[in-house]
Amino acid sequence: MNTRYLLQSMYDRLSAFFGPCNWWPGETPFEVMVGAILTQNTNWKNVERAIANLKKDGLLTLAAMSALSREQLAEYIRPAGYYNIKAERLRNFFALINEKWDGDLDRFLCQPATLLREELLSVKGIGPETADSMILYAAGKPIFVVDAYTHRILSRHEIIDESYDYHMIQELFTDNLEEDSALFNEYHALIVQAGKEFCKKTRPVCAGCPLSGLNGIDCPDQDGIIM
Ligand code: SF4
Repeated sequence: MNTRYLLQSMYDRLSAFFGPCNWWPGETPFEVMVGAILTQNTNWKNVERAIANLKKDGLLTLAAMSALSREQLAEYIRPAGYYNIKAERLRNFFALINEKWDGDLDRFLCQPATLLREELLSVKGIGPETADSMILYAAGKPIFVVDAYTHRILSRHEIIDESYDYHMIQELFTDNLEEDSALFNEYHALIVQAGKEFCKKTRPVCAGCPLSGLNGIDCPDQDGIIM
């Protein structure tokens, strides 16, 4: 079966099952970007609590958050975990926008996706998944976001082998799908839904999963347990 057909079929199954995901949960591009850093290594519930702390005191703007000390910022974002490290990462990101772009986030986000990506990846603590999430969900530019769920689902269905890295998986999607930010937005959100609800790390819940049977694979092994 060809890859283009498989990826389209995967999208269609997920979309029919879950319906619209309406991502990213965030009211402004700045909130989306802060959320993208806070969500590293934690679940979204914890990010929501950290963001609520900032909102409660009217701090969810670049100017207000940049004015906080590292310690104050860490305290506000404590519910998101790794709060000292994340406070440092946020401050590195703010420094880029304040120092190079004179605090003008809109102008920063207007750049072509390749330049945006280059600048974001130059910030200590921002890796490919975080940078691409910001480009897709805050800037609205068509770049495919890859995460652990994407790797897991594709490899369990033998669309890729385990050795595929971030870039190779991203290329697989961009080479085989129309370059469309709305499609990329929804597709990544649907993969996350499927990963959370069904394609769990140690024991996938294949019965009832909308991807059961994709590429001729109902369940990766008889017991549904992946070693
Ligand atoms: S059918 Fe099983 S292996 Fe495939 S995505 Fe669903 S849970 Fe994962």
